[in-house]
Amino acid sequence: MHEFGMAEAILAAVEQCADGRSVRRARVRAGVLLRIGEAALGRAFELAADGTVAEGARLEVVVDPVRLTCGRCDRTTTSDGLMAVCPVCGGTDLAIEGGDELVLESIEVVETAEVPGDSRRDPADPPG
Ligand SMILES: [Zn+2]
Repeated sequence: MHEFGMAEAILAAVEQCADGRSVRRARVRAGVLLRIGEAALGRAFELAADGTVAEGARLEVVVDPVRLTCGRCDRTTTSDGLMAVCPVCGGTDLAIEGGDELVLESIEVVETAEVPGDSRRDPADPPG
């Protein structure tokens, strides 16, 4: 249910961005500390988006790592979880940044020339 609340928050942001246009794809950045189940979030988004401009849109989740800056060696490292010690020097004076944000990064709307239909699209991702 964690994912459902997030899906609704994402949907609200998507709808605002879309401004009435049909949404084909939405991309969010989710901090790793949120421990989002990507599949669960995708399903929740699908359900929440039903009947909205984002109906049928694909949700892409980019997981953001935590950034740790060491106060001893001043190196910045990224991690997929909270660490207690610097992996470089073993120092414990770590400044933690990010990893807990949920941000709508971009949306792709259906061009007005295209009529949204029920034709299946090739799910292949463009490079990049
Ligand atoms: Zn260090």
